[in-house]
Amino acid sequence: AGTAPINTRGVGVRFEQLSKRYGDFYAVDSLDLNVAPGEFLSILGPSGSGKTTVLMLIAGFVAPTSGRLLLGDQDISQIPPYKRNIGVVFQNYALFPHLDVRRNVGFPLEVRGVPKDEIAKRVNWALERVHMEKFADRRISQLSGGQQQRIALARAIVFEPRALLMDEPLAALDRNLRQDMQYEIRSLQRSLGQTVIYVTHDQEEALNLSDRVAVMNLGRLQQVDTPKNLYLRPANPFVAGFFGEANLLSGKTQGGVFTTDAGIRLPVTETREGPAVLCVRPEMIVFGDERKSDFPSLTGTVLETRYRGSILHIELDTPLGKINAVQHINTTNDAPAEGTTLEFGWDPNLGHVMMGQV
Ligand code: ATP
Repeated sequence: AGTAPINTRGVGVRFEQLSKRYGDFYAVDSLDLNVAPGEFLSILGPSGSGKTTVLMLIAGFVAPTSGRLLLGDQDISQIPPYKRNIGVVFQNYALFPHLDVRRNVGFPLEVRGVPKDEIAKRVNWALERVHMEKFADRRISQLSGGQQQRIALARAIVFEPRALLMDEPLAALDRNLRQDMQYEIRSLQRSLGQTVIYVTHDQEEALNLSDRVAVMNLGRLQQVDTPKNLYLRPANPFVAGFFGEANLLSGKTQGGVFTTDAGIRLPVTETREGPAVLCVRPEMIVFGDERKSDFPSLTGTVLETRYRGSILHIELDTPLGKINAVQHINTTNDAPAEGTTLEFGWDPNLGHVMMGQV
């Protein structure tokens, strides 16, 4: 005993068929997930999808109904929260308003029985990491929201936790401050080699911060992947629609040809066979001469056009149904008039087939 444990790198977190049931309702349903040591993983999903419950399971504030949870090599399913050595940061900070910054940040060390001089050193270290060393003697009530959030962060890292959990930590901050804090959280996480599991319902925030994003819906993990793959290779229509606009066509695929429910044949690179949904992002759609010989050759009638910033949205009525396209605006492309017939297609390498989806 005596000194605070110092590990420079977070450990992995592993979920094995982890479930949390309330009555016959599954808040988290059979979650399998591996978070790597030092990884920044966001849990993203709509309200009620089970994000917070996942964090509470890791922190130990909620007990699983079934399944296992491992921190590094250790099964922590039965270990009480205070013995897990996990740092937690909430949206509402949960600081002690009547105590000064130093006492707040030192609190986790105090309850661990760390000697006073060691606490002082560790608190200074943590405050430096969040650029708040000048505020050590202020009361919490004398700090702004952003400053309080930094203090909450310092308190969560001061005991060098094995993993750091954050539940919408920036939700109460205004947009500019939120972006600054995103950057700071990311660089802090990198420099500490800390494993972070971060709950948010904000797609942009998750994509900005994360090595990988775990997308949840209705208590179930939909996909865990890099920001790029979630956009280009979504696992199912829910994920496709959750990250930006998507043209989704249902049908079946066989031998490099996708046949829509209406019987239209489209080239794809997918070689598997079976019912599927084809996802074509609006910006993949090209018109007229921009099409290459291996692109599908389709025609559509312009229903509506809209300018949004540097982008022109074109909505088309086509044999595939309604298709959304976007084009970057340059000086030569005027919006086509409503009712204009346009030839369009896309690169078959970019269209993404989601197997087994209807
Ligand atoms: P939000 O973004 O709104 O915070 P979330 O994705 O974090 O939502 P959770 O808070 O994990 O969702 O809740 C998941 C589901 O479990 C919800 O439908 C919620 O009502 C339910 N739930 C959570 N806690 C309990 C409880 N103690 N008893 C019964 N149901 C609960």
